[in-house]
Amino acid sequence: MDQPLSQGRAIADFSNSFAELPDRFFVRQTPAHVSGPQVIKFNEPLARELGLDIDAITAAGAAEIFSGNFLPPGADPIAQAYAGHQFGNFTPQLGDGRAILLGEVIDHNGIRRDIQLKGAGRTAFSRGGDGRAALGPVLREYLMSEAMHALGISTTRALAAVSTGETVFREQALPGAVVARVLASNIRVGTFQYFAARGDTDGVKTLADYTIARHYPALRQAENPYLALLAAVVEKQAALIAGWLQIGFIHGVMNTDNMTVSGETIDYGPCAFLDGYDPATVFSSIDQFGRYAFGNQPSIAFWNLARLAETLLASIDPDENRSVERATEILQEFPTKFQAFYLAGMRKKLGLQTAEEGDSERVQNLLNAMQENKADFTLVFRRLSETNLPERADARALFENPASFDAWHNDWQQRLSREPMDDAARASAMRQANPAVIPRNYLVEEALAAAITQGDFQPFHALLQILQHPFDNQPANARYAEIPPQTETIYRTFCGT
Ligand code: AMP
Ligand code: MG
Repeated sequence: MDQPLSQGRAIADFSNSFAELPDRFFVRQTPAHVSGPQVIKFNEPLARELGLDIDAITAAGAAEIFSGNFLPPGADPIAQAYAGHQFGNFTPQLGDGRAILLGEVIDHNGIRRDIQLKGAGRTAFSRGGDGRAALGPVLREYLMSEAMHALGISTTRALAAVSTGETVFREQALPGAVVARVLASNIRVGTFQYFAARGDTDGVKTLADYTIARHYPALRQAENPYLALLAAVVEKQAALIAGWLQIGFIHGVMNTDNMTVSGETIDYGPCAFLDGYDPATVFSSIDQFGRYAFGNQPSIAFWNLARLAETLLASIDPDENRSVERATEILQEFPTKFQAFYLAGMRKKLGLQTAEEGDSERVQNLLNAMQENKADFTLVFRRLSETNLPERADARALFENPASFDAWHNDWQQRLSREPMDDAARASAMRQANPAVIPRNYLVEEALAAAITQGDFQPFHALLQILQHPFDNQPANARYAEIPPQTETIYRTFCGT
């Protein structure tokens, strides 16, 4: 085999801080060797942002590096420990069962980022699993995370997708793959739970100190840094979940082990986007009771944050009652903070620069009308943003009973008459808040099916390209912005990466 890196060169200047934490935080683990790695997609702009030396990588090098076959100099691969509540039930040990942290780099903005290989083989945390990932879920994570980034939502990123040449078994034989993803960190609510569940207060404190230093350094000076950390995560998650609701994103498996303390969206398993607006929408086949339904996401985030708060109690104040009191006070701010982020974002979607008392109700009235009329969430808002474009399509036509739209629309028009912005400026601002294209479920499935059954990656590349510019009108690719076919209503997603 040719060397993956040019003679004497390194791909990155790794600086691995998590591996310097106490031994019980992680297990050292080399990725499994795979037989025939091939790059499907390499995210060059992201690689540059991370300061990777792309020119050092030889022709065959990227496949070797991002499949885990070749360890670049400075990498110190580990699997991290965490626990988590899955659908409300606590498991004291989960951990990286199919993801291996290659190492950390400092990006062009001075931010420390993890480079992690998901699907890189078994670790000490794999339990019964094979540590591998199938091609479909890898492409799905790539598309979804990059789409979310382009939509302006805080998220882990995809650096590379590599097919491995191995077969993985998920009820059937499937091609294997690895996704190299980039994270602000891999610290989850469940990481805190891992130590708290063992009564390891030192472990919680060490993790909290590390989290503060890495994500919220200003809090080191706070009167009570652990309480301040809780407040910071509450704030970050309130903003994140509001963002999800504004673009119609359903995470699908908001277990505490799938919620970061950095505020990035993580773990794209059964996630999907709304078509017709309905807060009860659930796509995941394993979410039988709708725990993670679209409209439940704020209350689930709140519940998860309460689990985080519990882990910090012993660190916040030696007096338990006092600690509970202070943590509760911070936690209770979540609904208000969420509402504030949500309303601010919805105002943007409706082109409102000023704030008026009735705006919240105005938003709700539109959503109610959309729900009653099975109107497409993305398209209604997009069409409201295109009122001054020659190619505009009518939002009204998306409602089964257009009269219910008319009533709302009249009220909105009156509200707009009290706005300072002129129509053209408003419409253009609205188009920056209301995407024309999202990763529609059927488009994603189409791209995955072509790759899996025919080895045809063209639809994947085409869709990825479109999703990189979600707010642009792309007339040549109008089909990506269309209303989905009827079959959509029975759409189901599955977990197993
Ligand atoms: P998830 O529900 O995808 O967030 O994963 C929950 C837990 O299951 C995590 O600890 C994963 O590492 C683990 N896991 C999921 N799939 C596999 C697999 N194929 N092999 C080993 N562990 C896995
Ligand atoms: Mg997970």
